[in-house]
Amino acid sequence: MSIPFLDLKAQYMQIKVEVTDAIQNVLDSTAYVLGPSVSNFEEKFAEYIGVKHCIGVNSGTSALHLALIALDIKAGDEIITTPHTFVSTIWAISYVGAIPVFVDINADTYNINTNLLEAKISNKTKAIIPVHLYGQPANMTEIMKIANEYNIPVVEDAAQAHGAEINGLKVGNFGKISCFSFYPGKNLGAYGEGGALVTNDDAIAERCRLLRNHSQPEKYFHNEVGYNYRMDGLQGAVLGVKLKYLDSWNSRRIEIASMYNEAFSNYVNLSIPKVLDNSKHVYHLYELGFESNEKREVMIMKLNEKGIQTGLHYPIPVHLQKAYKHLNYNEGDFPNTEKAANTLLSLPIYAEMTNQMVEEVIKIIIENA
Ligand SMILES: *Cc1c(COP(=O)(O)O)cnc(C)c1O
Repeated sequence: MSIPFLDLKAQYMQIKVEVTDAIQNVLDSTAYVLGPSVSNFEEKFAEYIGVKHCIGVNSGTSALHLALIALDIKAGDEIITTPHTFVSTIWAISYVGAIPVFVDINADTYNINTNLLEAKISNKTKAIIPVHLYGQPANMTEIMKIANEYNIPVVEDAAQAHGAEINGLKVGNFGKISCFSFYPGKNLGAYGEGGALVTNDDAIAERCRLLRNHSQPEKYFHNEVGYNYRMDGLQGAVLGVKLKYLDSWNSRRIEIASMYNEAFSNYVNLSIPKVLDNSKHVYHLYELGFESNEKREVMIMKLNEKGIQTGLHYPIPVHLQKAYKHLNYNEGDFPNTEKAANTLLSLPIYAEMTNQMVEEVIKIIIENA
């Protein structure tokens, strides 16, 4: 049995008729950029998250960039986040000339360690960007307590966490602005690039709506330096169809994760993800931890021999990337991040996986554990 890491085709086949119809409508209407399919999706996604505004853009990276512009982040400002994330989180900080200030992650949730956060706040700190990594909410209760005390705005990077919750409240509700990605492999994915910002702040929403479209309130009048970060009509149409299935797809991911958890929890040399109380983890990725990089390498090979694909998220932390050499961080600066980079393995997890496929992955791992 061959088990791919992700199977976008299997999902497409289930919604083919509906999605083809929606795409055909956009083609017939020629509303290729923004237009009704995008505003329709924005309305539905805002309602789904439970916020006032959603602004569709052309990627999650663009959403993060606009969020920082909308908060008036300037060159030399400091922004606190974690080095254990997809590099986009940090790109946005660089795009506005700000300086990323890293805080290590927790060894078991892989999200920002809130006990280390306060010590990194300075008078230059102008935002905090928690990442809901792998689909698990960061500890927003603690983060908001600290952020409110110092009056620092929070931007949630929710690119991997569509539908994740804390105490029944969806991520995207905690920060001043929250950013989502609709890259095809995300829990809610477009058929191309896509992203969105959500916020309850009317002024920020209005400004981001303009910024994404050349800051053009009226044709050929430009308020400030703008961007072409608009969402395509076709992506809006696809996302509008797929949003209806997000909860059921997330439920299936959670089911698969509990099968993995149950199977691996008794093996002392394997570590399963820890989920905080009152949190709903939506398992964009399922991370299995090994004792060492070598043990992980052996497992990757054994799985590969049986046709099972895995992934690494992320093998080189941001503070050790060549692009961020100038920040002068060293190996050893963020031990939990570095350990996660060296020992976590992403197992296949997607709604279309059958129980038989999940059991096959489990069987091969246990045979080699
Ligand atoms: C995917 C992702 C992004 C960027 O989204 P794109 O749509 O690919 O630009 C940002 N942050 C995190 C944590 C992501 O996983």
